[in-house]
Amino acid sequence: MEIAADRVVLIHYTLKDDAGAVLDTSAGAEPLAYIQGHGNLVVGLEKALEGKRDGDTVAVAVPPADGYGVHDAALIQRVPKRSLQGSGEIKKGMQFQARTEHGMRMFTVTGMVGDMVTLDGNHPLADKTLYFDVEIVSVRAATAEELEHGHVHGAGGHHH
Ligand SMILES: [Zn+2]
Repeated sequence: MEIAADRVVLIHYTLKDDAGAVLDTSAGAEPLAYIQGHGNLVVGLEKALEGKRDGDTVAVAVPPADGYGVHDAALIQRVPKRSLQGSGEIKKGMQFQARTEHGMRMFTVTGMVGDMVTLDGNHPLADKTLYFDVEIVSVRAATAEELEHGHVHGAGGHHH
């Protein structure tokens, strides 16, 4: 079966940066299950997989605009430490969910000076070209319930 909107796809994937370092991989674990056309994957990868079938392998370089975005200086904020109260000791590298005018976003602590904390709302992979090697394990139609929930049930998905 071909990959098309509203189909459940199981893939094995390896993601590398432009230096060839592995950033993420499903090798040695269960394949990743997702529903095509629901924004579960970065846009560039969904596009590259559209129309492919089980057994196909796909190698694609996804530019930042179709990946985790272009670095945006407006997403870097300095806030007083006390505004992050309830989070315990603040350390570089810690991540916080915060509401912004564009919805919920993950911020990473990138620096601390005195009582001020620098938060960066850019994705850690912003500005990076993403090199995906994908093997398509299986393709099937999503059930009505899966479409309603927006995620896959059973193998590789939610069990509830
Ligand atoms: Zn569900």
